[in-house]
Amino acid sequence: MRIEKAEVFVTSPSRNFVTLRITTDDGVTGIGDATLNGRELAVATYLQEHVCQLLLDKDPSTIEDTWQFLYRASYWRRGPVTMAAIAAVDMALWDIKGKVAGLPVYQLLGGASRRACRAYGHASGRDLEHLFDSIREELDLGYTSIRVQTSVPGIEKLYGVAAQEQSTGERYDFEPANRGTQPVEEDWDTRAYLRHVPTVFEAVRNEFGPELPLLHDGHHRMTPREAAQLGKSLEPFDLYWLEDCTPAENQEALRLVRQHTTTPLAIGEVFNSVYDIKDLIQEQLIDFVRCASTHFGGITPLRKVMNFAEMYQVRSGFHGPTDVSPIGFAAQLHLGLSIHNYGLQEYMPHSRLTREVFHEGLTFENGYLHPGDAPGLGVDFDETAAGRFPYDQAYLPYNRLADGTVHNW
Ligand SMILES: [Mg+2]
Repeated sequence: MRIEKAEVFVTSPSRNFVTLRITTDDGVTGIGDATLNGRELAVATYLQEHVCQLLLDKDPSTIEDTWQFLYRASYWRRGPVTMAAIAAVDMALWDIKGKVAGLPVYQLLGGASRRACRAYGHASGRDLEHLFDSIREELDLGYTSIRVQTSVPGIEKLYGVAAQEQSTGERYDFEPANRGTQPVEEDWDTRAYLRHVPTVFEAVRNEFGPELPLLHDGHHRMTPREAAQLGKSLEPFDLYWLEDCTPAENQEALRLVRQHTTTPLAIGEVFNSVYDIKDLIQEQLIDFVRCASTHFGGITPLRKVMNFAEMYQVRSGFHGPTDVSPIGFAAQLHLGLSIHNYGLQEYMPHSRLTREVFHEGLTFENGYLHPGDAPGLGVDFDETAAGRFPYDQAYLPYNRLADGTVHNW
């Protein structure tokens, strides 16, 4: 079997997605996700101008070899654009292998290690009343673990809070990228945040009891000392994890945080290579791997990282917002189902329009996800529907402090 065609599609059903479709000379197709929120066209161009032609006439069954070829033969390794492009190829080849074998990808990865994958939902509110309502809604939807984000007095616009405006009408916490040619400015005050967040978790615990697993995302905004303070102050409320407490590229920061708090730590959504996360796993500075198959080079490298992490009792907590397309989400769900050290999967259902373009095979029942048993990844890409939603530029927001200094968003 040979690869006959490799095509790139950019479509915007509710938000922008980059999709690669590989077709073999036998007419088998495989699809992969190359979406990089706010930088979509860079990856589409990388694929179109530099990768697609390299795939032609190659044997689609050689997944590992193709991955190594694309990673090593470019000489310039790593980076989110390169790794999202390689991820799309990797997913498409796993999809093809599954279709040829007549098996879902998780069977090719060793078979299921559990009945289904537990997911967490997203609750937020501008005050306690709205937050409690939001948590109840998530519980009603079946979620058994919930991420809690909250407005903070003194901060006007804050990551993860659904009540904020979104130009497309999508929930802000489900799609913070705004359409337009400039990113929206938001504001940040670390001291106000550190004062307020523990009071919110105390109130949530008092209202919902000790059992419900609760998560929180710090979104890379704190210094190591500030993160240690937050972790310590949240210890009485028994978080399932505190995510991205410090900027992820400074890995030494986690040593200081870890010395001062037993609150579990999750990090990795902006990582794109095993070298970003190996020391954090080996030194046991984190508890959960937040990498996403789409931004990490696909199923192949993420599987290796999780096998490595298993030796250190570090579990998965793959990044799963709506900018991971249904293809990328399915890819990591197959992986999550198969590995022993599965932890928890972030889940935001894609919009109705997104699902018109990507026909998903996954099921979500009683808080648990399953990728389905269709051969391959179990997602179908509708090219005609995709054509109805042309690319529409969008940027993630950015932050400034009160004095005008740019801060991590
Ligand atoms: Mg996050």
